[in-house]
Order: sequence, then structure tokens, then C-alpha cells
Amino acid sequence: MSSTIEDLARDNVRALTPYQSARRLGGNGDVWLNANEFAQTQTWQLTQQTLNRYPECQPKAVIERYAAYAGVQPEQVLVSRGADEGIELLIRAFCEPGKDAVLYCPPTYGMYSVSAETIGVEYRTVPALEDWQLDLPAIAEQLDGVKVLFVCSPNNPTGNLINPDDLRQLLAMTAGKAIVVADEAYIEFCPQATLAGWLKEYPHLVILRTLSKAFALAGLRCGFTLANKPVIDLLMKVIAPYPLSTPVADIAAQALSEAGLALMRSNVADVLSTREWLIEQLQSCDCVEAVFPSETNYVLARFSASSNVFKTLWDQGIILRDQNKQPSLSGCLRITVGTRAECERVISALRPLAGAGLSLEQA
Ligand SMILES: *Cc1c(COP(=O)(O)O)cnc(C)c1O
Repeated sequence: MSSTIEDLARDNVRALTPYQSARRLGGNGDVWLNANEFAQTQTWQLTQQTLNRYPECQPKAVIERYAAYAGVQPEQVLVSRGADEGIELLIRAFCEPGKDAVLYCPPTYGMYSVSAETIGVEYRTVPALEDWQLDLPAIAEQLDGVKVLFVCSPNNPTGNLINPDDLRQLLAMTAGKAIVVADEAYIEFCPQATLAGWLKEYPHLVILRTLSKAFALAGLRCGFTLANKPVIDLLMKVIAPYPLSTPVADIAAQALSEAGLALMRSNVADVLSTREWLIEQLQSCDCVEAVFPSETNYVLARFSASSNVFKTLWDQGIILRDQNKQPSLSGCLRITVGTRAECERVISALRPLAGAGLSLEQA
């Protein structure tokens, strides 16, 4: 009997809901505040014209500069096609499909489950506590068979850091059993909170980083995994032979030069000051019920009638990220801190919208 193409696919792939990336969701916006990108681009010159040759697997200049920037040894750095590839490599290197599991604590980043599902590895969730911290006793009960735990800090989409004492306890309870991955995609917005200095103490700690957010290079597709050498050696076994193209390595090395780092830090300072303005303004909008503190380049807020708010802004070309479906985030939208002008567009669009209090009075 002949099968349809769909039938030929693996069961888990047929069942898979792909990651709803901001780009896939579409929309005809001119104010894109849904993917935590940096709002402005820089221009880059290519300095390497050797495209007839295959690139280095782990380009030396990029590795050495990132190691110096992160305060680790070059042998503790792996570079890949975005931090997303790092997530996938970790699951592929440590989890046996159908046997081992990954664990994470929603609400959090969506790619941990998508990657696990694609690879055919079970994922287990332990919802975060009400303050979006780790529920350590519940995690301890779920550890059987777990090989990789993902903890995003600061967390996307809630914007909070995970308590360092809790992370120490998590590392203690998983020692010799599982890998703990700290996703630090937004760490440049709160650099003092990095766990990079902990690598000396914990052989099972892994840190994910990216050039997509603070470095304003989401289109480059370049991310980093920091870990001790035994972990890096394993990931090197499963990574593609040429994960980064020559132009990507060329631009990444420039972004990590002294001048590149200075530019990134000045961009971060601008984002932080715009974020404070945005938070203050949001707090005075009638339709906003709560604005959550943020250590990142985005702000999560709870709205009355959030789908209406989302749609109203969408129709004005302002694209936000709806977080309404994530556990504990009903009514929540995530707003990337764009330029000051973009944030002013958001506030002008929100001002006229009524709050729950007002509509009750009218009723
Ligand atoms: C954006 C993001 C990533 C992915 O980064 P890329 O380097 O663009 O793949 C990973 N983790 C979190 C929490 C993110 O928000």
C-alpha cells in the first residue's frame, strides 16, 4: 500500500507544532516589538574574501575574543548557529530518545520543548512558583531520568533573574546526574548576574549566550555555549563540520572587538534608559493592570482585555508578543524595548484604551 508523504514522516515530527517565531507569525507591522531584537542595525564590511574555502569549524578569532569577553578559557567556548543550535546540540549529546528526558520551568522560552520534541526526547515541566522562581522540591521529585535541565535567567518572557541560591541548590541536587543549562541570552542587560564564574566549581553547568539580542545581530545567527572541556568535547562530536559560514565568523569577530564591545555596551545603556521610561508610562495607562520588573530588553505587562489590546496595536502596525497562553501569564503581553520613538507609538496607542475599572463603571 502506498503512503502519503505525511505518513512517511516520523510520528513525533507529524505531531510537532513548530516554534511560533515572530517572523512566522507575520503581520504587516512597521513597529516590530515581538522578538526582542535590537531596534537599529549597524553596517558591516566583510574582510575575508576566501569563500572558495570551507570555513574553520570553530573560528579561532571568534572563540578567543568571546572567551576574553566572557572571562573563561577558549577551551570552554563553543560557537554555533545561534544559541538555538546550542540547545539542540545539548539534547542530542546527552539525551537518548525514548529513554532520557529534559526538564524546564514554564513560563519560559519555547525552544526547549520544540527541540526535545523534534529529537524525540521526552520533556517534563515543573511550573515556576508565583514569583517565577524555581519550585525546587517539585523539581527534586521529577528528576528521575532527566539528563538536561534548562533554566533561563533572566527569564524570557517574564524578565526576572533566577535566585542564585536556588541555582546553587539545583546544581547540588543534579550533581553527577544531569546537566544544568543556564540560558543567558539576555545577560548583557544585567552582566553582574552571569554564572560564568561558577564553571570552575560545577562540571555539569552549561551557559548559553547569543549575539542576537544585546549585540544587535539576530540576523547573523551566532551563539555560544560555555562549559568545561569535557562537555565542549562531547558537543564537538555532534556539531556540523562547518556550523558557521565565513561571513558570519568575520562579522562575529568584529562585533567582539574592543570597538564592537564598546558599541554593544552603549546600546545596552540606551535600552535600559528607554526601558525605564516605558515602564513608567505603562504604569499610567488605564488598560494596564500590572507591569513586571525587567532585567532585560523587554517588558512583560498584564492588560485588561489583552487580546483586544494586542489586536488594536496590531491594526496600527505595532506588533507585540502575546504570552496569554503560557502558564500563569493570562492577559500578558511582552513588549520589546524598541527605540524611544517606537515606545512612544506604543504608549500613544495604549492611552485611549479603557481599563477594567472604567468599563465596569460604564456597565
Ligand atoms: C532569543 C533567545 C535564544 C536564541 O538565540 P539565537 O542565538 O538567536 O538562537 C535563546 N534563548 C532565549 C531565552 C532567547 O530569548
